[in-house]
Amino acid sequence: MEKREQLYEGKAKKVFATDDPALVVVDYKDDATAGDGAKKGTIRGKGVVNNRLTNNLMKMLAEKGVPTHFVEELSERETLVKKVEIVPLEVIVRNVAAGSFTKRLGVPEGTVLKIPTIEFSYKNDAYHDPLINHYHALALGLAVQEEIDTITKYAFRVNEILSEYLLGFGIRLIDFKLEFGRLPDGTIVLADEISPDTCRFWDAKTGAHLDKDLFRRDLGGEEEAYQEVMKRLLGE
Ligand code: ADP
Ligand code: UDP
Repeated sequence: MEKREQLYEGKAKKVFATDDPALVVVDYKDDATAGDGAKKGTIRGKGVVNNRLTNNLMKMLAEKGVPTHFVEELSERETLVKKVEIVPLEVIVRNVAAGSFTKRLGVPEGTVLKIPTIEFSYKNDAYHDPLINHYHALALGLAVQEEIDTITKYAFRVNEILSEYLLGFGIRLIDFKLEFGRLPDGTIVLADEISPDTCRFWDAKTGAHLDKDLFRRDLGGEEEAYQEVMKRLLGE
């Protein structure tokens, strides 16, 4: 497998073509952004942590019946994945009120929700990833009903699997964002990443943030927190 030209550079990762048109390489950076790009910085070692954690979690999810784009970890920061057409939705699942949910609805952070919730944002930087409902997704042609149903089913399944798994390592899964993609035959698979950049992880005992909120909110200690999550989950 030969790594070829760069196809895309995002805020946290670069995507490269390979000599196989069905596969791409994702390369995780240490760059961090927050507040819709208003805050920019670096979290040293983040790319390594996010790459290794994402792959570990995706492998586990695949074994439990959630198909993913993962193919093979190539290095500390690089992974070979199936190239997909990303469904332009940020799929957010919440167990506990935090972040934008608390601001929008006036619910105190930390409130345990009576049931897990799902919401969709339209992945569109120019319009700041607006919150939409599934009718909007259908009306705009972002996905069809069958895809929305599959995505919803997988997102809640990911929540069940990850919540239980992480609790075994003393971590509460508060909320997270997923992205899904279409393979050439139309099959929906989990894509992008699952990491402290895209999930809220709270220490089960102390409630300490073990995620990007340390960076977003200028609390400090983000490098150590990312390393701590990797140490707990991967033992190193
Ligand atoms: P952003 O685009 O939000 O700045 P990243 O820096 O994480 O995000 O860039 C990675 C990009 O790659 C994202 O746009 C993501 O949707 C896309 N992507 C993730 N997995 C795949 C995949 N398997 N095939 C094609 N694109 C992918
Ligand atoms: N999230 C993400 N990317 C985004 C927006 C949100 O990964 O562009 C994740 C975020 O890390 C959190 C969850 O989705 O785990 C819910 O985020 P929220 O809507 O509360 O937004 P925020 O407070 O991050 O602005």
